[in-house]
Amino acid sequence: MKFYSTNNPLHSVSLREAVIKGLAPGQGLFMPGQIPVLPASYFKSIHEKSFSQIAFDIARAFVEDDIPQDRLKEIVSNTISFDAPLVEIEKNIFSLELFHGPTLAFKDFGARFMSQVLGYFAAEQKKEVIILVATSGDTGSAVANGFLDVKGTRVIVLYPSGKVSEIQEKQFTTLGKNITALEVDGTFDNCQQLVKQAFSDEELNQKLFLTSANSINLARLIPQSFYYFYAWSRLPKKEHVVFSVPSGNFGNLTAGLIAEKMGLPIDHFIASTNRNDIVPNYLASSQFHPRPSVETISNAMDVGNPSNFARMIDLFQNNFSEIKRILSGYSFSDEETKAAMKSVFTQRKYVLDPHGAVGYLGLKKYISQYPETVGVFLETAHPSKFKEVVEETLSTEIQIPERLKIFLQGEKQTVPLEADYNSFKNFLKTLALPHE
Ligand SMILES: *Cc1c(COP(=O)(O)O)cnc(C)c1O
Repeated sequence: MKFYSTNNPLHSVSLREAVIKGLAPGQGLFMPGQIPVLPASYFKSIHEKSFSQIAFDIARAFVEDDIPQDRLKEIVSNTISFDAPLVEIEKNIFSLELFHGPTLAFKDFGARFMSQVLGYFAAEQKKEVIILVATSGDTGSAVANGFLDVKGTRVIVLYPSGKVSEIQEKQFTTLGKNITALEVDGTFDNCQQLVKQAFSDEELNQKLFLTSANSINLARLIPQSFYYFYAWSRLPKKEHVVFSVPSGNFGNLTAGLIAEKMGLPIDHFIASTNRNDIVPNYLASSQFHPRPSVETISNAMDVGNPSNFARMIDLFQNNFSEIKRILSGYSFSDEETKAAMKSVFTQRKYVLDPHGAVGYLGLKKYISQYPETVGVFLETAHPSKFKEVVEETLSTEIQIPERLKIFLQGEKQTVPLEADYNSFKNFLKTLALPHE
């Protein structure tokens, strides 16, 4: 399959190039040349398949023969090495728990698949592939853990010193091996700026094979479709199925829309956001107005200019009425989010994290209009990742899972860095030495 750029349909590249480059020229995003459609018969027997088998079928539809089948099977089963259970928390309301991976957030799916696909393509390179990632917390941990021990790759995580939680920091500073954490004396924006500047530095790019692992990489998008199919296959009722997706950059939701285009019988999607309501506003007004993000308790969704928006409208050839037919959008305040966390905990004994709570709220709002709905909301993070706000809201203590505790025992190792491009460049240059 070929992949084209959202800002130039004529610029079409192989999977390999799309994954290695990440971004198309002029900030375009890569899209599949055509969305493969599965036959209706596939959905009749899908419930007999395992998560990993379903994921392989979906991956193969995009990857085709660009990666040998056996290798792809291995990549998929390494990605799906943990379950994504559906938990019915109220009648016809299901929580799809996507937090059972190593860093307890749904980003593990994308990061694990991408790291291995990139690792496969990197093996053909002479130079080590250097992945630069700026993080405000969660992306860094998912990417670092995904790439840990992947041959031919090195990950450099840049993060703002003192501005991420201890749990987040430990998840990418204790790994060692091919993972290096740069502790930047500055803000997240400084980190992002340093990375951007490195990508556009020609001298540096001649010496080093640099790539990015941010959420717009196609290899992070594809695996996020897997669990829509899997969840649907496990639902006891398959009529009027609606997914509510707590969203920030809208990669997760875009993957759901792709699943629907592939033939998955889903009635409707809900774009659930916090106060950063750019997409709900777009759905209400047809006007897309990005603006600076505001801080909320669901901070992984504090995005003012959602990067996958271009993909969403591209999927529907920018046809606003088509988009409205499949997608509704609602936004919620922190107060509403906390109230939902509280009521679900008191009435159902189920602990929502703030992101999942936003998804739950969107679903409830939709169901108040369409009561026959069988609704699934995506629970994108384990509540212990947002321990403080969850404990304060629920007035109860929550357990940290074992796999998170392991990180806390590790020793933090970082390289301190001024928020200054020359220092960063000098650091990167030292990486070139042993390979020349
Ligand atoms: C990244 C993230 C989101 C938002 O996902 P997008 O694909 O950017 O819309 C939601 N919840 C959590 C916990 C996240 O880490």
